[in-house]
Amino acid sequence: MVRVLGCGVCHSDVSLAEGLFEASLPLVPGHEIAGHADGVGNVVVYASWGCGRCVFCRQGDEQLCPDAEQAGWTRQGGYAEWVRVPSRRYLVPLGDLDPVHAAPLADAGLTPYRAVRRALPWLQQGSTALVVGAGGLGQFAVQYLKLLSPAAVVAVERNRRKFSWVRELGADEVLHPSQKIPAARAAFDFVGSTASLRLCLQALEPGGILVHVGAAGGQVPFGFDRVPPEAHLTNSVWGSLRELREVVELARTGRLRWHVEPVPLERVNEALDRVRRGRVLGRLVLVP
Ligand SMILES: [Zn+2]
Ligand SMILES: [Zn+2]
Repeated sequence: MVRVLGCGVCHSDVSLAEGLFEASLPLVPGHEIAGHADGVGNVVVYASWGCGRCVFCRQGDEQLCPDAEQAGWTRQGGYAEWVRVPSRRYLVPLGDLDPVHAAPLADAGLTPYRAVRRALPWLQQGSTALVVGAGGLGQFAVQYLKLLSPAAVVAVERNRRKFSWVRELGADEVLHPSQKIPAARAAFDFVGSTASLRLCLQALEPGGILVHVGAAGGQVPFGFDRVPPEAHLTNSVWGSLRELREVVELARTGRLRWHVEPVPLERVNEALDRVRRGRVLGRLVLVP
């Protein structure tokens, strides 16, 4: 049992509440959980729990396990005072990181880490990486790209109030989607709407890679003349336990910055509504 100290509010929780995904009710949402576990200390919870036997689990990719259970999706999540976690090995010690601040590492920190690392072979000196949607996840993506690749990073964001913060995090340029978008070797779509996927494909260079992360339910047609020649189209799903440990290590050594606004758990509906309307700079974290 983990006593929840903070649980991040993800945009996919809004989609879940709106019925975009199939869920068996009643369900407590929340997959960005930090808390306290007796005998372990303050932890962030790795929230995708595989069967432990299949090929994906054996290679450490429990998030790809066809039988995985996930906190906040198929098991009760972190919008609560307590959460049940099936094994101690899913608890990643936070050291001196503040649990309220650290909660978003479980998804907003982890998911773009995997997405960026998968696209690193495409990114050399002189290439451009496009980050579409500079919210909770995109802001981490900008930092990973600057830390791990020599590429120029261009962020595309609708909300102009985020521009200066995203530049401060290292983006070489921040553009509004109505502006001219430069050609990109890798494009990361953290929105995932039909419009944002189209924007990525239009910017993608031949042979480039589009990584679809955002869960807004968008679609684009695939075929000759529909995508750039020899382009790679993939999605990227959450991350592994090992990758979460690496993210926490980066955070503990002070190499990542992210914005958190604590909100009392009782005000959960207000928080979901603000996320729905895009009125958040980084992440809202529910505090029981
Ligand atoms: Zn999420
Ligand atoms: Zn499995």
